Amino acid sequence: MKLEVKDLHARVEDKEILKGINLTIESGQVHAIMGPNGSGKSTLSNVIMGHPNYEVTQGQILLDGEDVLEMEVSERAQKGLFMAFQYPVEIPGITVGRFLKRVTEVHRAAQARLRGEEEEKAPKASGFVRELRAGMDFLEMDQAFINRYLNDGFSGGEKKRMEILQMMMLKPGLAILDETDSGLDIDALQVVAKGVNHLKGPDFGAIIITHYQRILNYIKPDFVHILYKGKIVTSGDQKLVETLEEKGYDWIKKQYGIQE
Ligand code: ADP
Ligand code: MG
Ligand code: MG
Repeated sequence: MKLEVKDLHARVEDKEILKGINLTIESGQVHAIMGPNGSGKSTLSNVIMGHPNYEVTQGQILLDGEDVLEMEVSERAQKGLFMAFQYPVEIPGITVGRFLKRVTEVHRAAQARLRGEEEEKAPKASGFVRELRAGMDFLEMDQAFINRYLNDGFSGGEKKRMEILQMMMLKPGLAILDETDSGLDIDALQVVAKGVNHLKGPDFGAIIITHYQRILNYIKPDFVHILYKGKIVTSGDQKLVETLEEKGYDWIKKQYGIQE
């Protein structure tokens, strides 16, 4: 899978936030997008996923050559884009097991349709449960979670595990993790990293969006981009993360002549 962002400009409430973003992400790659608060990181991920508050004023987003901006939000997800939110929703009244079974079935059926295959019969419940339990073991989640209401009373770390579990069940082609590390303790952070590193392979890519370098100690990015005031001011590899950690965002500002 290949996602191409070309000269993307976007605004929210008449304010231009993204000012010409160029980015290409392919399966098998992990990209980190770093930047201070307010630089437009969430705007970029929201635009890619089709959040209605954001208006694209210029540029293109292509997924394997197809125009993403013309796709419904559900279509983007069916085609394999997945987004982990900074603040997951709580849904009392539906259990983790039922929720994941439903979304996984709907997703797999839609993907089969897109491949032009006959819709596979809903997978046997026992097979699904086995897969779910294996995922939970892998993420060191208590099996009792299957019968808990979705995110209801979950701690921050438990919500994150839940989301990574969902990602592992859906096996997206490209996942966007927007500040999924903020407020997490080291244990939860390591679980997020474990999930991403487990999925990483020829059919999976990820964009890790973060303010801090911490999560990048556990998920090694192949490419690193610095977003500042709606533009990618520089790109590099893991060394850029180290330089940023050492010198801070002020160095970026001076280096690239960014005016306040
Ligand atoms: P980041 O994720 O890098 O912290 P955001 O993309 O959230 O940055 O925000 C970039 C800028 O866009 C900020 O100045 C923010 O106030 C503004 N912005 C984002 N969403 C909205 C919105 N819904 N309404 C008004 N301003 C917004
Ligand atoms: Mg922010
Ligand atoms: Mg943000």
